[in-house]
Amino acid sequence: MEFRDLKKQYQENKANIDAGIQKVIDNTCFIQGEQVKELEETLAKYVGVKHCISCANGTDALQLALMAWNVGKGDAVFVPDFTFFSSGEVVSAVGAVPVFVDVDEDTYNISVHSLECMIKKTIDEGALIPKAIIAVDLFGQPAWYSEIKKIAEKYHLYILEDAAQGFGGSIGETRACAFGDISTTSFFPAKPLGCYGDGGAIFTNNDEWSELLKSMRVHGKGTSKYDNVRIGMNSRLDTIQAAILLAKFPVFQEMELKNCQKIAALYTQELKDIVKTPVVKEGYLSSWAQYTIQMRDREERDGLQNYLKKYKIPSAVYYQKPMHLQKAFASNKYDESDYVVTDRLCDTVVSLPFHPYMDEAQVEEITLRIREYLKLVR
Ligand SMILES: *Cc1c(COP(=O)(O)O)cnc(C)c1O
Repeated sequence: MEFRDLKKQYQENKANIDAGIQKVIDNTCFIQGEQVKELEETLAKYVGVKHCISCANGTDALQLALMAWNVGKGDAVFVPDFTFFSSGEVVSAVGAVPVFVDVDEDTYNISVHSLECMIKKTIDEGALIPKAIIAVDLFGQPAWYSEIKKIAEKYHLYILEDAAQGFGGSIGETRACAFGDISTTSFFPAKPLGCYGDGGAIFTNNDEWSELLKSMRVHGKGTSKYDNVRIGMNSRLDTIQAAILLAKFPVFQEMELKNCQKIAALYTQELKDIVKTPVVKEGYLSSWAQYTIQMRDREERDGLQNYLKKYKIPSAVYYQKPMHLQKAFASNKYDESDYVVTDRLCDTVVSLPFHPYMDEAQVEEITLRIREYLKLVR
């Protein structure tokens, strides 16, 4: 069994993907070819924002957004403590300080109560100027944007939506990547919409930021890439990756997202009485980057992983370590008592095999083994 079966996905969509790749090779327009522009237009329309600016990966997408806002030395950016490293890494990369914020134990997303506490604490300490909130749509579910927006307005902060795992999700009629002042996503192969290498994109309704971002992703270009008016990056999406995404996108939109809802519902039905299953808020749609359950403690969680391994069922722990304990951030000061929920989640969470090409029998097998294991240990 595969944790995320990219081989099966390719086999089922091979003709279109192969044709898309071949066309790029025939045209030899490998950088900024027409498929890149077509993809950007397609995704901007799907998300419902004015501009989509593709780039080399989801990490660069976040960093470029912070660069466009001129976030740097002396600035504080609020980031959930329970996320992938990138969400905090980019803040340090531009010279600012990531202030980590505890998360909600049901949704795994940034806790709005802790967010306001950390903003107030930062203002009281007076060493840093609060500039932005990076809200992460963890495991596929959008963060609580109606509340985050109120806090952002109250303290005059930008919202940067990190939808690396959230592409395809929504709240009501609004899709992920439309909630931030700037929003970003990743096309890393295992993300909800993945390409066959690295890739990413930035979304915004702001014309000025869009122009800045287009310059910054090509060495801070002015009228051409040999006229350089600012310091930027080399961060473009390859044309081949754009062609692959164009071939995969209709299937993602029409079939994969729907299948994910069915598989998640089946998992939850089978598991909700024995473990803590994911909570999707009323009116929210998750794109199910991960299906993550909580066990009682680390011993029970680690034991389950070992038990499943015996039956060749893969599982993964996202995330083993809170951001505030990562060595890379050791020069910043964090107060352990601010991260009670994240500390516990790192001990108890485990993500189960999940992808749109799973069949019901696989879910039944996995949930049966989980029940068997819990009978042995509880
Ligand atoms: C994967 C991921 C990123 C980074 O994306 P890359 O394309 O791998 O650079 C950023 N934030 C989150 C939450 C992610 O899961």
